[in-house]
Amino acid sequence: MSIKRYSNFITNCVHAGNDIDKETGAIRRPLTMANSYRLPDDASKLNWSGTDELIYTRTTSANQMYLQEKLATLEGGEDCVVLATGVAALSGVFFTFLTSDSHIICTNVSYVAVYRLLNEYFPDKYGIEVTLVDSSNLQEIKEAIRPNTKLIHIETPGNPTTRVSDIEEIAKIAKASGILLSVDSTFATPYLQRPLSLGADLVIHSLTKYINGHGDAMGGAVIGSKVLIDKIKRQAMVNLGGAISPFNAWLIMRGAVTLSLRMEQHSKSALRIAEFLENHPSVSFVAYPGLKSHPQHEIAKKQMSAFSGVISFGLSADIKTHNKFVNSLELIISAVSIGHDESLIVYTGPTDERNHFYPKEFQNGHLRFSVGLESPDDIIADIEQALKKCNL
Ligand SMILES: *Cc1c(COP(=O)(O)O)cnc(C)c1O
Repeated sequence: MSIKRYSNFITNCVHAGNDIDKETGAIRRPLTMANSYRLPDDASKLNWSGTDELIYTRTTSANQMYLQEKLATLEGGEDCVVLATGVAALSGVFFTFLTSDSHIICTNVSYVAVYRLLNEYFPDKYGIEVTLVDSSNLQEIKEAIRPNTKLIHIETPGNPTTRVSDIEEIAKIAKASGILLSVDSTFATPYLQRPLSLGADLVIHSLTKYINGHGDAMGGAVIGSKVLIDKIKRQAMVNLGGAISPFNAWLIMRGAVTLSLRMEQHSKSALRIAEFLENHPSVSFVAYPGLKSHPQHEIAKKQMSAFSGVISFGLSADIKTHNKFVNSLELIISAVSIGHDESLIVYTGPTDERNHFYPKEFQNGHLRFSVGLESPDDIIADIEQALKKCNL
């Protein structure tokens, strides 16, 4: 993949992966909804599972290639693979780099599918050894390393605790032992954090969230060196079958054009709203990496240029009142996912299967709030009126 790169991120947001369409002269690469591409006249020497040639959409589509160029550019990586969902990207990494005699160290607050894959399915079905650690504690990571450790996987900021892990320090630990480091950077996006430049080997994104940003398409990506990404393409993309629809790749490509503008606004609004919540007498706790009270605020400041749009918090109230609060909101919508244009909130009660790993204040249930692109004044007014309805 030869990629044209500009030195400024926001210019790459607009232009990377786009080109003049050779057939029509259109200044946007077209959407190509096709399962198959015409084979060369002599197909006898063709690599049928090749992922650099257009043959069959499960082994790479045109729109997938364009999006891969864009994301490799934005993350500053050599190559990228785009898949159907964030979980397809994560499972693709685990499937490719773990074998039945290997060991993985994973952060103990991770996306729920990762938690289940590594806590249940991989150990039970394939005998893969897993150690879950508090990845904000470097000592825990060091002590967890075994001779057969192949991968350290972290998520920073983590979903839903917003815990921050020190990418640069963990990369040093991983390198010293010849272990790969993968970072789920979904909450941050390449606009706010570049794990490869801090020493990580692989960056993973759920494109479903901020990178698409409009809540209307799912996708996942892994960015890293060509050698590592080729392995994921050959093993996981072609043979696990998590190909992205060309239409979704096209939508995400379009959404990503405004990534820098959106992340600026999400981060600005979220900081203001987090400060408002922290000062409200009925709010029991606020977890947001941009607050001085956040336990890893200094690390967040070191490795992120702003703190993105997700805030977790709790009310000094019972489960029933938390539900009433969410249902009293008028602008903010009760729905899962994060990183959309609209504000979304989810109340998770204490039955969450990862609850015992959460910080103490989360364990009575918590609200995960993805601050949208609406006016922060309107968002705060909505929270205030809903708290009043709950007599808070
Ligand atoms: C949503 C999310 C995922 C999963 O992505 P999907 O596109 O829903 O499969 C993975 N990691 C993080 C941090 C997420 O927020």
